[in-house]
Amino acid sequence: MKFLVDFLHQEVPKSGGTMPAYYRKALFISEVVLAAYFLASAVMLVCTTGVWLWQPTVVFALTVICLLNINRMSARVNLICFSGIICVWLTWFVYRFGWSSGSPNILVPILPMVYFNIYEPPLGKIGYFVGIVAFRVILFAYSLHHTPPDELNHTASLVLQIVNSVIPLMMMTIEFILFSSSIQANERELTINNQTLHRAAGTDPLTGLPNRRAMLDEIEQYLRADPNAQFSVAIADIDFFKRVNDTYGHNCGDYTLKELATLFMTAAADKYKVCRWGGEEFCFFLAGMNIDEAGQEMHDLKTAVRRHPMHFGEIDYSITITIGVEENDYRSSIEQILDRADRKLYMGKVGGRDQVVV
Ligand code: GH3
Ligand code: MG
Ligand code: MG
Repeated sequence: MKFLVDFLHQEVPKSGGTMPAYYRKALFISEVVLAAYFLASAVMLVCTTGVWLWQPTVVFALTVICLLNINRMSARVNLICFSGIICVWLTWFVYRFGWSSGSPNILVPILPMVYFNIYEPPLGKIGYFVGIVAFRVILFAYSLHHTPPDELNHTASLVLQIVNSVIPLMMMTIEFILFSSSIQANERELTINNQTLHRAAGTDPLTGLPNRRAMLDEIEQYLRADPNAQFSVAIADIDFFKRVNDTYGHNCGDYTLKELATLFMTAAADKYKVCRWGGEEFCFFLAGMNIDEAGQEMHDLKTAVRRHPMHFGEIDYSITITIGVEENDYRSSIEQILDRADRKLYMGKVGGRDQVVV
């Protein structure tokens, strides 16, 4: 029942605005098919009755007029014209030939045009449905108590039966193709945009590494899959980084961060994950590793950083990092484990820097 409540409360843009391109296209093609249908009916009725009946030509002409004025009319007026012409045609047909040859089927393609019209309010949509049903019932009741002036011969009846089955289905198929592909195109675009935004929200713009938020998501996801999974975390901080900025400039500092990020990503490969924790700090998530294994990995990394030659323009220099490592004790929260890694990092700083504290 929720879908019905949502439907009734949907907000609708003010009528008179520009029609969405897919809607105009669906309306245009439906009216072209409708015009062809009236023309074919006119020709067939001449063949079967032997006299020229002007009414099909009039509805054909009205449809052509609507077609030519599609862009000048709002979605609502277009819809009223489209459904009005169909109702006029059907009324005349039932009056003239009775309830025969499946002619009332032509009412059905009105509904997709109503329900996919973004300007039509919910009550208007329900009104159309009730109106079409009532119209059908009244016409049927009328046909029961009224003898039509003309009767279709067997061949004409058979041909019209086929036409009245194929044309409405064809119109509906075209309408649904256009409506569904437009919805899917919008959804695809929205999903891609969301993914891009999600990626951007989890990426540090300077280094291209995941940021703190993305890393915490990663750890939470890992633990959601197995709450008792083993893992270690490490926090690294560049030693005397302020000096790099103060001595060689902020751009050199940025270069250092980017260079280190590349080095970390290469070293991490598939073994562990790295993120920019903030400022000149990086965080490592070593899934499946105990503190000894993680400590060894971080020790290798620390050595690689010290040996890595930095070149910023004419400036040659090297840097060191200090790292604090902690493992999951299956009791503490992620924040508590990270906090302990941070305290070990601080101990490493106090203890002389360029070291790994496990
Ligand atoms: P310690 O060995 O105790 O960590 O000393 P430190 O100089 O590295 O630490 P401190 O916290 O005094 O300085 C960190 C510096 O990192 C200060 C800040 O300007 C710099 N920093 C933080 N983020 C960036 C950044 O994105 N780019 C640059 N160039 N510098 C940054
Ligand atoms: Mg720091
Ligand atoms: Mg530092």
